[in-house]
Amino acid sequence: MTPDRDADAIVVGGGPAGLTAAITLAAGGIATVLAGKRPSPSDNRTTALLAGSVAALSTLGVWELCAGQAAPLKGMRLVDDTGRLWRAPEVKFEAQEIGLDAFGHNIENRHLVDALDRRARAMGNLRLIEDEVLEVAPGAQSVFVALKSGERLSAPLVIGADGRRSLCRAAAGITMQERKYPQVALTLCLAHTRPHRFISTEFHTPSGPFTLVPLPGNRSSLVWVLDPADADVLMALDDAELSDEVERASHSILGKITIEPGRGRFPLTLSRARRFAANRIALVGEAAHVIPPIGAQGLNLGLRDAAAIGELAVAARRIGRDIGGINTLVHYDKMRRADVASRTLAVDLLNRTLLTDFLPVQGARGLGLYMLDRIGPLRRALMREGVEPRASQPRLMRGEAL
Ligand SMILES: Cc1cc2nc3c(=O)[nH]c(=O)nc-3n(C[C@H](O)[C@H](O)[C@H](O)COP(=O)(O)OP(=O)(O)OC[C@H]3O[C@@H](n4cnc5c(N)ncnc54)[C@H](O)[C@@H]3O)c2cc1C
Repeated sequence: MTPDRDADAIVVGGGPAGLTAAITLAAGGIATVLAGKRPSPSDNRTTALLAGSVAALSTLGVWELCAGQAAPLKGMRLVDDTGRLWRAPEVKFEAQEIGLDAFGHNIENRHLVDALDRRARAMGNLRLIEDEVLEVAPGAQSVFVALKSGERLSAPLVIGADGRRSLCRAAAGITMQERKYPQVALTLCLAHTRPHRFISTEFHTPSGPFTLVPLPGNRSSLVWVLDPADADVLMALDDAELSDEVERASHSILGKITIEPGRGRFPLTLSRARRFAANRIALVGEAAHVIPPIGAQGLNLGLRDAAAIGELAVAARRIGRDIGGINTLVHYDKMRRADVASRTLAVDLLNRTLLTDFLPVQGARGLGLYMLDRIGPLRRALMREGVEPRASQPRLMRGEAL
């Protein structure tokens, strides 16, 4: 670090993507400041972390701090619950079929953020400042960051991990492409009387997927995508009434349902930054892309962003290059573009084929799922691509230290 700088890198935003980016940079020997607020404690979302994300968190020394609170995902069922003329067969994916014990692990975000936070606090060259960032101003050699406390910081590289309404993105001059869907996701955690056997079940309904994902014990998380007016009706129910509705929608596959306190409601949008980096600022997580909660992709992409920018910055530092310079940023943009584009396209297509009333599209979706059910190599290729995308797999996701 040169004397006129406060750090080599500043990460703005203390959510899971920002914490992971900060730990990655610090682990690679880069003096880092993380300036940001943590997500609200009332965020009751869970994350299905795919195998590559778990490998990265293990390598960073985070996974051992939260593995006990995660449930392995050994199988996945897709059930057509549309009641339409063209209905797809039920498709089952088993991790064993591709030589894995599990596709990944499901964990409540609060436990994941807590483990990341504890790991970050134990790192020598990482300073944590829990404060609001009021201004981000890129200059020729450094980016300046002003905090609410009045402190001003500068570094040659800023990681924008400040979520959907990113100040860093605006400061970098990057705009978003956005699509809004006529749906919201209702999230909650629940207890049930029958075991989930570590299998997640996704019912495809005409308003969107209803997905139950295992948690440790006889507990699961629910993401229920539905029409906003229907969501309002459900949100107004008391716990006992909503438990009955969830049990009905789940066809009682997990027995009697008791929902736990805390419900989330998230409007469904799909947005993608037109560039992932500019003006010494690299975007990670939801600052760069927001995708509907279908197929457990959002934060897995965010962790791959964090691992990728960490890998590039550490490599630049080792050969004495400017870590926030144009080479790093162009390489980062290229590294993330195909991965983010392919995931957003797949999630968008799947969601839209569910919403459509157009019979040929419903038929094509049914045929696609029928082929997946019947053709083993196709099913296995899809499973491998889902767990370990071939496009741009940062080293951390392969369990390699930087
Ligand atoms: C219903 C639902 C289910 C999901 N399920 C999954 C799943 O199973 N698997 C998966 O991979 N993904 C899933 N996702 C996506 C995942 O939850 C998000 O990708 C993830 O939470 C985003 O993390 P982040 O760190 O990018 O952003 P955030 O969690 O939004 O963090 C941004 C942080 O920056 C802080 N901040 C913002 N502005 C400032 C500022 N000016 N100064 C200081 N701090 C600031 C905020 O306070 C916040 O703490 C799901 C999403 C939804 C909606």
